[in-house]
Amino acid sequence: MRGKWSTLHKFRDNCSSFFNQLFTCELCLDACEPGSFLCGRCFNDLPFPALTCPQCSEPSTTGHRCGRCQASPPAFDYSFCSFQYYHPLNHWMHRCKEGHDIRMAKRFASLMLTSRPLSDHPPDTLVFIPASRRRLLQRGFNLSEELCHHLSKALKIPVAPNALRRTSHSEQRRFSAAARRQSNIGLDSGHIDLTGRHVMIIDDVMTTGSTLEQAARLLKSQGASIVGAWCFARTVRAV
Ligand SMILES: [Zn+2]
Ligand SMILES: [Zn+2]
Repeated sequence: MRGKWSTLHKFRDNCSSFFNQLFTCELCLDACEPGSFLCGRCFNDLPFPALTCPQCSEPSTTGHRCGRCQASPPAFDYSFCSFQYYHPLNHWMHRCKEGHDIRMAKRFASLMLTSRPLSDHPPDTLVFIPASRRRLLQRGFNLSEELCHHLSKALKIPVAPNALRRTSHSEQRRFSAAARRQSNIGLDSGHIDLTGRHVMIIDDVMTTGSTLEQAARLLKSQGASIVGAWCFARTVRAV
């Protein structure tokens, strides 16, 4: 009987070390929780957001609305970026986009859920920034759309997939190259009814905010009363 128990214990120990080896932190190679890809220490070391302006997400020493937003507010009412765009996020993003690894979208969405906007009023609808046909063909997927669908499922908030659309190449030809660069022409209204709705745009990386600005204008033109943005990461300008 004793022999059987020690065999069982040995079997259990072997199983446990086998599973521990399976779940190793991909940054430091320490063991981590089953189903996870980061150990607790590396997770805590991720570049969580510093104090920012709640409207434009630019760094702010007080965490209050910045002077620029007070003087000339953007079309979106608030924005939140779950992380700052530093290591390891920039490397993961490269793997996702250049390595065409759609599985990273689920990882990014689960990380966004650990660092989410605090609000008493959740949005009614989520929307994503549509990708151009060329980009879709190149990459095979639209990361903004993938994140949006993962978050929609987790938060049980519906997506309005047709609220924004990409203008076709022929439509864009009406504008000069300079005009296209300046005003980020390429997005257009989906002409759906968003009257009175609180709409949240989901996107991967916020850089200048110009795409979100254009998207927010188009959503408000369809009746949205509040438009916010939730992005995976924000690039931080060198000062
Ligand atoms: Zn680690
Ligand atoms: Zn601001």
